[in-house]
Amino acid sequence: MTKTISLLGATGSIGRQTLQVARELGLGVAALTAHRQVDLIEQQAREFHPELVVMTDAAAAGELRLRLSDLPIRVMTGEEGLLEAATLESADTVVTAVVGSVGLRPTLQAIEKKKRIALANKETLVCAGELVMAAARAHGAQILPVDSEHSAIFQSLQGCRDRSEVARLILTCSGGPFFGRSYEELEHMTPAHALKHPNWSMGAKITVDSATLMNKGLEVIEAMHLYDLPVEQVDVVIHRQSIVHSLVEYRDGAMIAQLGTPDMKLPIRYAFTWPHRAASPDRRLDLLTCGDLTFRAPDTEAFRCLKIARECAKTGGTACAIMNAANEAAVMAFLRGEIGFNDIARRVESALSRVEVKYEPSLADILEADRLARLAAVN
Ligand code: NDP
Ligand code: MG
Repeated sequence: MTKTISLLGATGSIGRQTLQVARELGLGVAALTAHRQVDLIEQQAREFHPELVVMTDAAAAGELRLRLSDLPIRVMTGEEGLLEAATLESADTVVTAVVGSVGLRPTLQAIEKKKRIALANKETLVCAGELVMAAARAHGAQILPVDSEHSAIFQSLQGCRDRSEVARLILTCSGGPFFGRSYEELEHMTPAHALKHPNWSMGAKITVDSATLMNKGLEVIEAMHLYDLPVEQVDVVIHRQSIVHSLVEYRDGAMIAQLGTPDMKLPIRYAFTWPHRAASPDRRLDLLTCGDLTFRAPDTEAFRCLKIARECAKTGGTACAIMNAANEAAVMAFLRGEIGFNDIARRVESALSRVEVKYEPSLADILEADRLARLAAVN
């Protein structure tokens, strides 16, 4: 069980919910990191008394240092700060809740220190899944999923003694705000439309990913790595109600699922308490009032990102790293109003056609693929 956390991305949607769970479970907090939200992290630092606070933005770090000068808290900046937070002696668990592939190096270093990783930052597994899982095996570090679908699968796998008995994983997908729209209709969708998710309240990047279905594509790749299965054994179904969080189908045809209200605090809490469960004050699912549960096939012609992700998963090498970085850059361009909604998939495809895939990549190859793909996606 987790006793003390280092929380990377404390001011985000997952970060704030993690601190609610930490408060509830009475966990210690050794480090908090954010990019530039000084007001919120100052409040968090005053409540949780970490030994280290990191602002990756240098100007924000300078401001925070002044504001926290009455407390015995170290303030650091940049990637150096993130790496220090990920490897602090006093934390047994590192929560990776930063957004994007910036989470990769801190996650690898935390694994080398044998920390329990409560992993929300899916981009890390998408761009370097083989390296990350191999490092976790080599150092005996546990990776506990925070992503709700992967937590549901993890929960449905408890008691499975032989992974070859798993026939397939079925990831559920809400379909996002644009479910049922045609490719032509999607052309006109703006950031304001995309940021209205029907069931979950999340950061801007993942909310746009949920609208393009790239989020589900990233999750297919995340599941392959976490559960060591080929992409052919990871399926996706649209389930508008977000109540069945995902399923495992075993070879005898049994399907085991985890159900609940759409609330990230459950998977966050389970990542800390596994292999045990703690009592929760949160609202429970009421089967009698939750309404009908529906399941449909995804439309991968209108939502091309899901298809692109499956193809990259088959290609292997640095293909997923290229796709992920191009997507990060394209989503930011979409949020700034520079490109249209369907341009996100076009930019990703363009980057994939221009950046060469390397096989059996080193960490340096992955970081270089990430850099080149970001450039290719905006030029
Ligand atoms: P948010 O955008 O809400 O939060 C991101 C956090 O990362 C903030 O603390 C932010 O700091 C920090 N950050 C932003 N840019 C950088 C950077 N360049 N370097 C270091 N830190 C940075 O994201 P979410 O909480 O929604 O998502 C976090 C991760 O969890 C993502 O990988 C997402 O895919 C995954 N996830 C999220 C879910 C959700 O429900 N939100 C569900 C499942 C997975 P600041 O606030 O100062 O900008
Ligand atoms: Mg998810």
